[in-house]
Amino acid sequence: MSRVLVVGIDGGTLDLIRPWAEEGHLPTLARLMEEGAWGRLESTLPPVTSPAWPTFATGKNPGKHSVFDFIRPSGGEFEMVNSTSIKARTLWEILSEAGRRVGVINVPVTYPPRPVNGFVVAGMLSPHGGRFTYPEGLLEPYREELGEYRIAPSVQYKAGEEEPFIEDLLDLVERRGRYALRLMEDHPWDFLMVHFQATDVLQHAFWKFVDPSHPRHDPKAARRFVPAMQEVFRRVDHFIGQMVERLDGDATVVVMSDHGFGPLHWVVNLNLFLLERGLLRLKRDPFTRLRAGLFRAGLTPASVWHLIERVGLQNYVWRVSKSTRNKVVSKFLSFDDVDWSRTLAYSMGHVGQIYINLKGREPHGIVEPGEAYHEVRQRVIESLRDLRHPETGKPLVDRVILGEEVAHGPYASRGPDLHVVFDGYRAIAFPLFATDSRIVTRQIRGDSGCHRLHGLLIAWGAGVRPGPAPADAHIMDLAPTILHLMGLPVPDDMDGKVLTPMLRLDRPVEYERAGGEGTVAEEGLSAEESAEVEDRLRALGYLG
Ligand SMILES: [Zn+2]
Repeated sequence: MSRVLVVGIDGGTLDLIRPWAEEGHLPTLARLMEEGAWGRLESTLPPVTSPAWPTFATGKNPGKHSVFDFIRPSGGEFEMVNSTSIKARTLWEILSEAGRRVGVINVPVTYPPRPVNGFVVAGMLSPHGGRFTYPEGLLEPYREELGEYRIAPSVQYKAGEEEPFIEDLLDLVERRGRYALRLMEDHPWDFLMVHFQATDVLQHAFWKFVDPSHPRHDPKAARRFVPAMQEVFRRVDHFIGQMVERLDGDATVVVMSDHGFGPLHWVVNLNLFLLERGLLRLKRDPFTRLRAGLFRAGLTPASVWHLIERVGLQNYVWRVSKSTRNKVVSKFLSFDDVDWSRTLAYSMGHVGQIYINLKGREPHGIVEPGEAYHEVRQRVIESLRDLRHPETGKPLVDRVILGEEVAHGPYASRGPDLHVVFDGYRAIAFPLFATDSRIVTRQIRGDSGCHRLHGLLIAWGAGVRPGPAPADAHIMDLAPTILHLMGLPVPDDMDGKVLTPMLRLDRPVEYERAGGEGTVAEEGLSAEESAEVEDRLRALGYLG
């Protein structure tokens, strides 16, 4: 019976991994590519970690599993997503039900861990101190020898402070890899998945070093920090090599990423654009008017933050109390200032999601479903054509994609009504209300890179036919492909297809009638846990 090892390299892109493999920095990946099948892997829209991993895990589009972003917006407020938000069976639950033994290490959106026939170590979006393993106490036997397990990075990148940031990521990879090897040896498994987060965080911060055309590229710094970046990938490659060495001849390895990566140049305060167009309105009370006045005068969270930095208080504010910083930020315009009774559309979430203030869905919705909804949506689409690139003056919007083109299924209506793609993803929307008073701004904190639609897929081993991977490979295709590799039928409600052209299997794909939802863990996250995860996400720049 064929075993499958999946390694997730978060944000992994062939744009870096291919040349670095060819140059000899990544010997394991180079070997897997040479002897296996590889190519690009299309991600979700938006290409964001949080919808991408549940899409991978379920083989279904977000309309069927209901995770569209890190957050679930509702009339200016939002909830953080967690594993109980995934309203569909995951690959590891399907395998468990079929009696296969599974191990899942650090995959995002797996907290709280749902029971499986095997083990789960939850990943990104787990709160500190939560029960992040199934079974509980899974990692206890290794603590003394391997040190504390770490889920997420703990040093936020700031320009000029590259070393501690890199050290932290190397430590994260090291612990992840060492724990993964021990779990892999000590627990029987048929399916094992190991996820590395550090690569995503690293590329967000360091893209400017690998990209000579980036506005913040500094060749001198690049000479120092491109090798540091390669070192992080080299450690990931090393651990993949160690895992591959421990496999027997009938195993198949899949190395994949949830999205690609590329340069980030601009942030778009979409809500300010909607405000300017009269599609979003502010309250008329004097405090909101005062705040709006200060905001327009340039006194914004960003400028106040600059001031704090200039007087050297940033570490104090940062370390002592994140809530102090949040208080500073919330002094200015926020969704609290929005007059929902006169607002037609708003934006919330990374990349460029727009929601219509729809009656029945939004708590203070005013737009009737049907004709009125379509009219408002069309008005938003048309006004977006006027948004211009601040340097070239050309249209900033490449594409506006309708919600129904991206998601279908029982939860599709929870998703964004419009997905906006700006300038080949070189510009993305600010996730909350606005970061400063300009519609298009350079205010992007420590980030110089952001996500792209195409990640990577490398498949190698017993079940794989060497050569190019199918050009239309999609992240939804992996769950059905893995089920087929492992000799199991594919549930007929999965949206992904079996990637048969890259497989060396004679038997035809079998399908089965889909079962119900997965075993959704009873408890979600407490309010404190949610707030803590939110803080962490903010520190990573995901909530601005
Ligand atoms: Zn990601």
